[in-house]
Amino acid sequence: MDAFQGSLFAAPGGRYARVAMNTPVRREFSYHIPKHAEPVEPGCRVKVTFGRRPIIGVVVAIDDAPPSGVEVERIKDIDSCLDVTPLVTPALLRLSRTVADNAYCSWGQALAAMLPAALRHDRTRRTIPTVELIYSPAAEEMQSLEAKFPKQAKAVAYLQQAGGPMEVREFCNRTGLSKSPLTTLNKKEWVKFDKKADVLNPFAAVELVRDTPPQLTGPQQDCVDTINKSIDVQQHQDFLLYGITGSGKTEVYLHALERCLAQGRGGIVLVPEISLTPQTVSRFRARCGEVAVLHSGLTDVERHDQWLAIREGKLRVVVGARSALFAPVQDLGIIIVDEEHESTYKQESTPRYQAREVARERARIEGAVCVLGSATPSLESWQAAKDSPDMQLLRLTERVAGGSLPSVKLVDMRVEKAEKGHWLVVSSQLKYGLKEVLEKKEQAILFLNQRGFSPAWYCRPCGKTISCSTCDVALTYHRWRKKALCHYCLKEEPMPQCCSTCGHKVEMIGVGTERVEDSVQRLFPQARILRMDRDTMLRRESYEQALGDFGDGKYDILLGTQMVAKGLDFPRVTLVGVLNADTALHQPDFRSSERCFNLIAQVAGRAGRSSLGGRVIVQTWMPGHPALLAATKHDYEKFALSELQERKDFSYPPFGDVLRLTFESQHQQRAISVANESCKELRQIVDGGFGKSTEYLGPAPPPIERIRGKYRRQLLIKTTRAELLQLRPLLYKLAEQQGVTVDPL
Ligand code: ADP
Ligand code: ZN
Repeated sequence: MDAFQGSLFAAPGGRYARVAMNTPVRREFSYHIPKHAEPVEPGCRVKVTFGRRPIIGVVVAIDDAPPSGVEVERIKDIDSCLDVTPLVTPALLRLSRTVADNAYCSWGQALAAMLPAALRHDRTRRTIPTVELIYSPAAEEMQSLEAKFPKQAKAVAYLQQAGGPMEVREFCNRTGLSKSPLTTLNKKEWVKFDKKADVLNPFAAVELVRDTPPQLTGPQQDCVDTINKSIDVQQHQDFLLYGITGSGKTEVYLHALERCLAQGRGGIVLVPEISLTPQTVSRFRARCGEVAVLHSGLTDVERHDQWLAIREGKLRVVVGARSALFAPVQDLGIIIVDEEHESTYKQESTPRYQAREVARERARIEGAVCVLGSATPSLESWQAAKDSPDMQLLRLTERVAGGSLPSVKLVDMRVEKAEKGHWLVVSSQLKYGLKEVLEKKEQAILFLNQRGFSPAWYCRPCGKTISCSTCDVALTYHRWRKKALCHYCLKEEPMPQCCSTCGHKVEMIGVGTERVEDSVQRLFPQARILRMDRDTMLRRESYEQALGDFGDGKYDILLGTQMVAKGLDFPRVTLVGVLNADTALHQPDFRSSERCFNLIAQVAGRAGRSSLGGRVIVQTWMPGHPALLAATKHDYEKFALSELQERKDFSYPPFGDVLRLTFESQHQQRAISVANESCKELRQIVDGGFGKSTEYLGPAPPPIERIRGKYRRQLLIKTTRAELLQLRPLLYKLAEQQGVTVDPL
């Protein structure tokens, strides 16, 4: 700040805090720090008055003079400072700034997303309300409730299905209902409210058993040595650990973590939410001692306590899903991103960031190493490892337990005979495979890519599916509720009988998990089938319970959606069936081939985890697709080579940037006009003329034009890094002032 500046005013002296707030406005506001609020440091949360309302912000800088151009008299005082020790470390403060810039949001929004909810507000909740059904209504009672109070009926049905107490907040999130039907039901003594004590660490209930590391294999040792070299010199380095499933990547992570701990430094391990199971956590605890676990199922209070324990250095290792990346670990030595290709590492709400990129950035700021691990690395990371010294490639090409990857066979569904009037669910080859598995008393996993294939109603004369009344999404059939449900807004509607346009009787099409279960059960009446999907796994606890039961051999076949594709390790599984491999390929998206390849590789990794061996049967209507063919050969490198060439030819990431702008409004015309005008403005800055490379696609209606009653228009921008820099100021402005969502893809 200019020294001359201070003398212009009759400055009251003291210091000024620049405060970032959780609003879309991309600037910080200065407040005077009164004596009573001290000490205030960057990274502290402060309570201030913004406009007329009290708000909590984070101090990002301290100035000795008032900001230029503002009259000192108009600068307000900070009301109070909420932290004695800054909650946000200097490194995280820097990181949050970068995240905000890349996500086209304000600094305060990025900070708010990093802090646990309980810390964003000035409150502490000590117990978590739960709700449980304590009355079992007769069928007639349910019918009359349904007729008079459908919301209460929905609540009862949901709690019945859940089969135990669940958190009220989780209940509301899952059902889209408010708390009020529960309150009424509580008065009738149908449900009871209770309070769950806050547990510091839900995984701590499991006894901590230390284990001794196994003798590393040669290739594992090489990887560990290379990583440890960087750890020892305390210099930033990125690694891509490319290792096939079962090649012992986790053991490499553990050794590197131990090295950091031995030096008194800490580490962060990111795993996809779905792999964040007690088994995973216990592997880290067994080696590193007590670890902090951060996942989306934590209550505010649990998250709050873990955060403070990490900040105070009581816990040095953090294992968690995406947002654990922002845990305030002291002396960070290593960040590990397991299954780094996973799409869940991309945050789809403000701030929109890609966790593996932010992990590299944080490692750079903190002088730590970053290890990205995968059997099917993202093409971005693969390209970086091939292309630049910033990312070092480490390989594990063999399974530790010996054994080879399972054979993968494609079944051409076009030549399979259809079932009577239905789509064929199980091909004859898969049927034969299942028969064998059952005879040998082994286990099988059947995977259904549910996207776009849930059963929906279809009107043959009109040729259209029956949609939700406020979203342009086909309604999905839920048998246990005997209702039609919109997966976007969670609204329930009665089952449609006739088409609203032509009055013709509607029919049901598509294959959902329920129908697959029926078909398989009909083929093998004696088989014990475990179905896992959003309808059967209503509570967090049910998921772990079900997997435990499958592992104990209480079931023969595990049937499910995305939930069963990832990271499961069951030695008795010798057959994996992918029922509809193609749905991933039908998405209009430059990553669809990559996603399809990954999916098959991952599901295939579930088979043959032991000496029993294993195989994979993939049903498809596109047996010639290159992504599928490469997947059958487990040939990641060949796939990556050809796919990267294609990305390069069309300037898709990692060779160019793609941004998706979404314009939204209650009024269709407004969405259209803002989209068109913004596009025009952007084109004035750079257009794909001579020597320019920026291309604009749209604005156009997205696949789902209306969600929750809001009309949407989308604009895709394909551009280069250099031209993106020119566009950025306008993009910031659109995001800030027009509420346009800017999503870097
Ligand atoms: P990945 O993460 O690459 O899929 P894991 O790290 O889970 O593989 O290892 C697969 C299995 O091999 C695990 O059961 C693990 O305990 C075991 N394992 C890993 N490394 C060794 C080793 N050096 N000696 C013996 N067993 C090992
Ligand atoms: Zn809807």
